[in-house]
Amino acid sequence: MEADRTLVNQRLAELQSAVIVTHERPDGDAVGSMLALSLCLRRLGKTVIPVIPGGIPARYASLPGADLVASDLPATPEKVIAVDCADLERCAPPILPDRRPPFINIDHHPTNTRFGEVNLVEPAAAATAEVLYDLILDGGLPINGDIATNLLAGIVTDTIGFRTDNVTSGVLRKTAALVDHGGRLQEVYERLLTQHTLAAARYWGAGLQRLQGDGRIVWTRLTLADRKLAEYPADDDADLVNFLGTVDSPSVALLFVEQPGGRVKVSWRSRAGVDVSRLAQQFGGGGHEPAAGATLEGTVEEVEAAVLRATRQSLETHPSS
Ligand code: 5GP
Ligand code: MN
Repeated sequence: MEADRTLVNQRLAELQSAVIVTHERPDGDAVGSMLALSLCLRRLGKTVIPVIPGGIPARYASLPGADLVASDLPATPEKVIAVDCADLERCAPPILPDRRPPFINIDHHPTNTRFGEVNLVEPAAAATAEVLYDLILDGGLPINGDIATNLLAGIVTDTIGFRTDNVTSGVLRKTAALVDHGGRLQEVYERLLTQHTLAAARYWGAGLQRLQGDGRIVWTRLTLADRKLAEYPADDDADLVNFLGTVDSPSVALLFVEQPGGRVKVSWRSRAGVDVSRLAQQFGGGGHEPAAGATLEGTVEEVEAAVLRATRQSLETHPSS
């Protein structure tokens, strides 16, 4: 890891210009990491553009540096830095192989395919933002209140407010150090985790109304009709799956979110050592042991039946693997 960090720091020191990309449907760690690294490299005088197709999601628009985000790739960036992105297929925007500049790959997903020219992948890290914190400190890169706030955004959201079991004393110390650097912890916690829009709360209501459970699994679905009725503007789950993960007793929570074009986004959350990343991989997705996802072709009914079957089977085979 030390060697990887040194190599990435060397590459960052050498580059003049880069774009930063992350995974599709970016979450708080994806956006926070991309903005933190953008602000940090720009302070060193480099031309850095963070790119999110469709622009920055409204939820993250108040993060410092959000105004830097472009929705399209510039012509030919010297380098592409991917943050929080487990594989090239999930990179957004997709970058065609013939136009592919060298990648610097910075991530914490255990399923990362090490697709970069240089790779800094730390599966033990609670967030890509934690990997970046170590990188910044190690390389003596600049840090200020805005950069710290973005790193806190990544840590706070990926640990669901310090609730996941990868929250070590080290994560808490780094969080404290980020607060010392001027990072605005309460603001990030409130805006990105606690607060929901009225539309999101209505959208949750639709999903919660048809919540099902069998003692081991809780699950529900969110349809395109629910989204429309609630006037919820995005194509994600408005974080409902993390609430499902708090329902007492069951070891797996599952959410099916209908997508346009006959596809369904599936999210798994688990407790008690059940590894759902293997299940997600079985369906072409990936993630971490306690939180994973995949996008499948089919109707919600079809996908729900297939995924529930596989999840039950896996719970029988590995009661708490
Ligand atoms: P979520 O279900 O909240 O979208 O994602 C949970 C975790 O699984 C995150 O770490 C996310 O990056 C990962 N994940 C979600 N969908 C996919 C997917 O289609 N492919 C891969 N490789 N990872 C995914
Ligand atoms: Mn992450």
